[in-house]
Amino acid sequence: MKAAAIIVAGGSGKRFGSQTPKQFLTLCGKPVFMWSIETFSSLKIFKQIILVVPKSSAEYFLKKYKNRMFTVTAGGKERFDSVKNGLALLNENIDFTAIHDAARPLINKNDILSVLNAAKKTGAAIAAEKTKDTIKIAENGFVKSTPDRNLLWNVQTPQIFKTNILKKIYSGKIPKNITDDSMLAEQYGFKVAITETKSPNLKITDKQDFVLAKQILSSQSPI
Ligand code: C5P
Repeated sequence: MKAAAIIVAGGSGKRFGSQTPKQFLTLCGKPVFMWSIETFSSLKIFKQIILVVPKSSAEYFLKKYKNRMFTVTAGGKERFDSVKNGLALLNENIDFTAIHDAARPLINKNDILSVLNAAKKTGAAIAAEKTKDTIKIAENGFVKSTPDRNLLWNVQTPQIFKTNILKKIYSGKIPKNITDDSMLAEQYGFKVAITETKSPNLKITDKQDFVLAKQILSSQSPI
C-alpha cells in the first residue's frame, strides 16, 4: 500500500496580515510548511509528498527545493485549484492521497495514521475535533437556531481519500462554495468517516495562532 500527501501552501494568507504568506514564515527554526512535510515524510507509507505554492513564487521554490524529498508545483486562485494542480503530479501507483493544509504545522504522526486507517476502511476520512462552543445559526444579526452541539465537529486536515475517489471528485466542475475536500466527496455521495484528533492541530490564521503554535512546539521539543 502506498500513500501520498499534497501539502497545500498556495494561499496568500490575507487574514494574517504580513507581506510573507504565513505558511512561509519561520516557526521554531523552519518554515511553517516544512513541519508538515517532515511529519508526513517520517511515515514510511507516504512515498510521495507534493508541496503546492503560490503561482507567483513557484519558480523560486522549484529552484530552492530541487532534489529534495518532496516535489513543488504552482497553486491556483482557489484552494481547490491548488489541490487539482497537486493531484496532476501524483505517481501512478498511489492508493491513498492525503490533502493537508500547510497552515496546520502541528499535525501529529499518530493522528495522520488514524485518519489513514479510517480511510482504508471507508475510502474517505477526515481529521476533526468535537466543537467546544455552542454554535448559532444567525441571519441579519439575530439568532435563527441552535444546532445540537453533540453533532458538531470542527473539521481539520489531513483529509485522506482513496486516490480514485479523489480523482473522480476533482474531475468535474467544482462549485464555488466548496471549502474543503470532504464537501466535494459528500456531494458525490461518498461516505466520509470522521476521525477525532488527539493532539493540537490548529490552523494558523492570525498572529495569535502563530504565537500559540510557537508555544506548543517549544514545549514539545528542544529548539
Ligand atoms: O485560507 P485558508 O487558511 O483556509 O487556506 C487553507 C490552506 O489552503 C492553506 O495552507 C493555504 O495556503 C492553502 N491554499 C492554497 N491555494 C489557495 C488558497 C489556499 O493552497 N488558492
